[in-house]
Amino acid sequence: MTSALMQEADRVMAGTYLRFPVVLTKGSGCRVWDEDGKCYIDFIAGIAVCNLGHAHPRLADAVARQAKTLWHVSNLYYTGPQVELARWLVDNSFADRVFFANSGAEANEAAIKLARRFFSDRGERERFRIITMEQSFHGRTMATLSATGQPKVRKGFDPVLQGFDQVRFDDIEAVRRQINDATCAVMVEPIQGEGGVRCPAPGYLGALRRLCDDAGILLIFDEIQTGMGRTGRLFAYEHFDAAPDIMTLAKALGNGLPIGAMLARESVSAAFGPGSHASTFGGTPLVTSAALETCRILEEEGIVAAAAETGRYFQKKLSWLQQRHDSIQEVLGMGLLLGIRLDRGGGPLVSACLEKGFLINCIQDRILRFAPPLVIGSDEIDALAGCLDELL
Ligand code: PLP
Repeated sequence: MTSALMQEADRVMAGTYLRFPVVLTKGSGCRVWDEDGKCYIDFIAGIAVCNLGHAHPRLADAVARQAKTLWHVSNLYYTGPQVELARWLVDNSFADRVFFANSGAEANEAAIKLARRFFSDRGERERFRIITMEQSFHGRTMATLSATGQPKVRKGFDPVLQGFDQVRFDDIEAVRRQINDATCAVMVEPIQGEGGVRCPAPGYLGALRRLCDDAGILLIFDEIQTGMGRTGRLFAYEHFDAAPDIMTLAKALGNGLPIGAMLARESVSAAFGPGSHASTFGGTPLVTSAALETCRILEEEGIVAAAAETGRYFQKKLSWLQQRHDSIQEVLGMGLLLGIRLDRGGGPLVSACLEKGFLINCIQDRILRFAPPLVIGSDEIDALAGCLDELL
């Protein structure tokens, strides 16, 4: 059914999104409802964003409280929630310093600028190139689409920004070969999200860490999709024997309010002095109060450890499906960032699941991706598995 709102959207909105014919009007926990009152179980969570589910009462209260107190004053002044959030992130990661932005792409812009500035400050202006990975995804701004290793994202936007060299993901020798005197950093998603829910071999990120140390260059982890508990640890790098020099976050950090963050070690962050980088909206009291409450809930309610457990259950269910259906070639991912690779296009299955009341997602044409709220239950997973079993 096409409602009046859909027709109006097609008339007045930029045509950048191919949308499903459904108007979603409210959410609660792991469920959302459309304008006809039909209920859907959400297995994509706004693409790995609403980790605590929809309309979480504590988050709603935190935002309402802050909305009645102070929304925005500019980063010319100190405000409490952003400092508390930065402290929480520093206390819970490898990092010493945090810069707040409004999105993943902006957090990555900050990371790219910081890596270049770090070497420029040391008199190495020619060292500005960043090695990124084929099939990576880092955003849609000019710098981040130039970093992104997917030609379809760059198509039609030439000339892209110079200074990015793409090599194969999970291939340490390819990085070693590419490093030269102009390389300032390697930037990688610990687990590729948009590129197909691809986990690297266990030793890859540790080897990358050692390679960067030996070459005297920086290691940047884009944890925009994998961070904040998505993979069953607070940050995906914790699964591997490696911590970065710079890490970017966004998506689930604000559970749906727009926020990005770039975290760095003290020695690296020092290259960002007053006036070197800024954002009008970065880290407003309103948004950071939501993010801070998100972090507190994750911690107080043990959500990350529970997500690891639920992820193992979900993965078993997907393996069970694979045994029953030859059309599933591979089960992918970790924690609650999971996928199945099909031997055919996944689009029709996504539409059929929608029809049956499940929101799932298809990437790279043949991969069904599942990134539900971390609070998803086994009953909901069983229901989706049953639905997929029937459809396949
Ligand atoms: N980096 C990764 C790994 C992502 O998955 C995404 C979004 O999907 C981005 C960066 C870009 O984030 P945003 O859409 O908030 O700019």
